Amino acid sequence: MKKTLACLLAVMMLFSALSVAASAEGACDCGHAPIIFVDGFNASDLIQDEGTDSERVVFPFPGDAIPNMLKDNVATVWDLLDTRFDAATEQTVADAVKGLLHGTEMNDDGTPLYNVTVDWRYPTDPAHSDGRYFKFNFDWRLDPFFNAEGLKDFIAYVKELTGHDTVHLIGFSQGATVLNTYLSQYGYEGLATVIWYCGAHNGTALVGSLFSGGLRMDAASATGYVQNATEDTFLFNTLSALLQGLTDIGITGGVMDLVNKSLEKFYADGVMKDIFLSTFGKMPGVWALVPYEDYEAAKRFVFGEGEEAAPYAALIEKLDRYHNEVAANSDAILQAAQEQVGKIGVIAKYNVRMMPVVDVADTQSDSLIDTYHASCGATVADFGQTLGDGYVQKIDDGHDHLSADGIVDASTALFPDFTWFIKNAVHETYIPYNDALLHHICDSDRQPDVFEDEAFPQFTYYSPAAGTTAPLTKDTDERPDLKPIERIMAFFRRIVTFWKKLFRKLFVVE
Ligand SMILES: [Zn+2]
Ligand SMILES: [Zn+2]
Repeated sequence: MKKTLACLLAVMMLFSALSVAASAEGACDCGHAPIIFVDGFNASDLIQDEGTDSERVVFPFPGDAIPNMLKDNVATVWDLLDTRFDAATEQTVADAVKGLLHGTEMNDDGTPLYNVTVDWRYPTDPAHSDGRYFKFNFDWRLDPFFNAEGLKDFIAYVKELTGHDTVHLIGFSQGATVLNTYLSQYGYEGLATVIWYCGAHNGTALVGSLFSGGLRMDAASATGYVQNATEDTFLFNTLSALLQGLTDIGITGGVMDLVNKSLEKFYADGVMKDIFLSTFGKMPGVWALVPYEDYEAAKRFVFGEGEEAAPYAALIEKLDRYHNEVAANSDAILQAAQEQVGKIGVIAKYNVRMMPVVDVADTQSDSLIDTYHASCGATVADFGQTLGDGYVQKIDDGHDHLSADGIVDASTALFPDFTWFIKNAVHETYIPYNDALLHHICDSDRQPDVFEDEAFPQFTYYSPAAGTTAPLTKDTDERPDLKPIERIMAFFRRIVTFWKKLFRKLFVVE
């Protein structure tokens, strides 16, 4: 037995020696280390029983799933609007939500219930000197420690495939939780650059709030969110203008009040808890998106305390491990990367409405990740506000770190000189500047800062209407390029406002 093991070890050592020799032989001298892009949530479909007759995509659910669900439950929707619904109606809703996510369920210990895999393969094309990304996709439900191990293997594979002994590493969105877990477990060797791009490694206020009972709708943010999420087509523009009109005259708010009343009852009756514990509440990967400061409250909300939480002990142990080893040390992990790798970058976006489903809907964000967390501590005004006229930069380090629009003070960020901000850019929306900035940092032969290149200043302005970017300065013309339908709606809104004011003057004693 021992002999077999020794033989096996010898063979393995021979092979690993050969593979090292092979990669040294194939060493590439192009001067461009490959870029590994650790992608975010839902970058690849989740497939159940892949390769069998029963193979099916379990996430994302098809676009018609929600309309169909509503159609099948018209009576329930009606009951909900009436807000006098009973336990049976609540059960119908809970079952419908769970049905949407069927296939993604987890066991009580945070491992997958079904045989689900990610629709993604290792790339085989070694070309890299053009700066293309080698994307690392992962099952977003799983423990970041598991995914970090997958990332370690992938980095080794890309090094061998391309003949380089270093890689640039970018963590995008949820990918930053995997990136930080990787750094905490496997260190900083063999990395040429580390970038946190709209990174959720410090969690996001959105998930923190959802996991601590903050689900609630708000008319202004719902309208704003729909408007920045919709496409530039006549239909969408008309719908979005119509929604704005409904909001202006208070109808959206009325509907939201009804929804919120239902939600309150759902919370009070424990339906929300039931939904959580059948879906996202048992996914360690999603738990990693809860900010450090919200974690304990979120645990109490989802699992309860004492005996009630006992069935989830194994899961909670996993969550605590991420929380204590990675989330609690986030700043230290980034600082060590800066010191040991020598080249890092933090990129955050702002001035986009947060998804409207939380009590933090006014938080400054890129729609999903709030700017405070993505920038590792910049001081930011709430959405639609500024830091104030007389605002003075909090930390005087001899640089100007206050954005010309008065919304962001980068001086309190972990790396004020290595943190870039893009205004008006939605979290996942592609704009060429995103890539240009990522390549600028990767291509630099030493730590670049936000002052040395005019093309990549601390604050960049993105015009969604024109699709262009430019440095944000006091002279930036921020009037949006209105689409024709919006011009018409703006005109009507002005007329309505005028009549409302006149009406108040004539008939209402103030
Ligand atoms: Zn090369
Ligand atoms: Zn500075």
